[in-house]
Amino acid sequence: MKTISLRTLDTNYTYLLVHENKAWVIDPGEAEPVQSWLKENDIDVVGFLLTHYHPDHVGGVMAMRTPDHVVLGADPFDFPYEKLEHDQMYALFDDVSLRAISLPGHTLGAMGYLIGDQFFTGDVLFGGGAGRIFEGTVKQMLMSLNRIKALDPNTKLYFGHEYTQANLGFAQHVMPDNEAVVKRMGEQAGVPQLLSVELATNPFLRLDDPKLQAAIKGYAQADALDEAAMLGVLRTWKNKYDAGER
Ligand SMILES: [Zn+2]
Repeated sequence: MKTISLRTLDTNYTYLLVHENKAWVIDPGEAEPVQSWLKENDIDVVGFLLTHYHPDHVGGVMAMRTPDHVVLGADPFDFPYEKLEHDQMYALFDDVSLRAISLPGHTLGAMGYLIGDQFFTGDVLFGGGAGRIFEGTVKQMLMSLNRIKALDPNTKLYFGHEYTQANLGFAQHVMPDNEAVVKRMGEQAGVPQLLSVELATNPFLRLDDPKLQAAIKGYAQADALDEAAMLGVLRTWKNKYDAGER
């Protein structure tokens, strides 16, 4: 099986898992670029694998799906689908299976997909950053990030959006002494990225870093914060940073 990464809409990634002349499509935010690629390469769609229900991840499904296609996910979708449970395995091809990993926080039904040494994060984790907490609690988001942290460090991560450069700007803002962030800023952004690199540079995976903890407590002007509270502060800090506040 090979994995094809396509850029869709402005910042989205859509992935194709291709085996012989068949493909599973992950998060088609729009149909056209995916259909062009399939046509050019003479590949047929088996089904769709959806990380969550936001329109920029499922916008292409309605235009592309036929009654023969399987649609997999866990959020409430506007079209028929098979609901996956946390830790459920599903055979994509004869010798390729996925493991669904529930990642609530960005949406309640957000799912990550582990396929061999590849992990598809949806909008829960990005290069150098993490998704906003639209549904669920900070505690749930922390659990989800910890589930990603627990994967093999050599896991190849495939994100839902390309936001790496902007995220690394914030990473440097909150972790000014982190040399791995500086090094990464000079490298080409993109997918896949190793989990080990995220563990070294992504502040949302580094809430156990004493220096980052001190920065978060300083920003919040509070001393006694547990990890969930620190994640909440870091999220608010990032949102304000994105809005131009320094
Ligand atoms: Zn989203």
